[in-house]
Amino acid sequence: MQQSLIIIKPSGVERGLVGKIIDRFQQKGLIIAGLKMMMLNEEILREHYAHLVDRPFFPSILSSMMASPVVVMCVKGKDAVTVVRSMVGVTNSRNAAPGTIRGDFGMSSQENIIHASDSEENGIIETNRFFRPEEIFDYNPVILRYIYSQDELK
Ligand code: ADP
Repeated sequence: MQQSLIIIKPSGVERGLVGKIIDRFQQKGLIIAGLKMMMLNEEILREHYAHLVDRPFFPSILSSMMASPVVVMCVKGKDAVTVVRSMVGVTNSRNAAPGTIRGDFGMSSQENIIHASDSEENGIIETNRFFRPEEIFDYNPVILRYIYSQDELK
């Protein structure tokens, strides 16, 4: 099973979309392994968005991501990283396909509702960035046998 780190950004929290977004991942069959609300600070955002710190819009990303608390979530599932990214949609919400979270709920590139890990490796690194080990729960909901075939669960 892979893990993906999801952040419901201030644009999702302030607009009251937390429940709808969590519901989508649960309906899909992803298992919530960790979930909490927190305020982000510049230090963690510089680490998380290290690939963007030199871009002219980085100060704007910082203030956008610190505008309110965010909800961070670790979900687990088979191929979870690809599955979650396809449910999230492309970065610019105006170009994101209908049916995706950004496509259905957003109109902006920056205020695009949600972050999701872009690789299996980053799923692990980012989960460790936002959660302490004891905040991640390894359990096997009984519904797993109805979500996956026996072969897929091996
Ligand atoms: P993604 O979140 O789709 O993986 P990136 O890692 O490239 O995309 O960018 C991280 C975040 O930075 C985006 O989700 C978005 O909020 C913001 N961002 C990216 N590009 C721009 C831009 N050109 N203008 C404003 N904000 C941007």
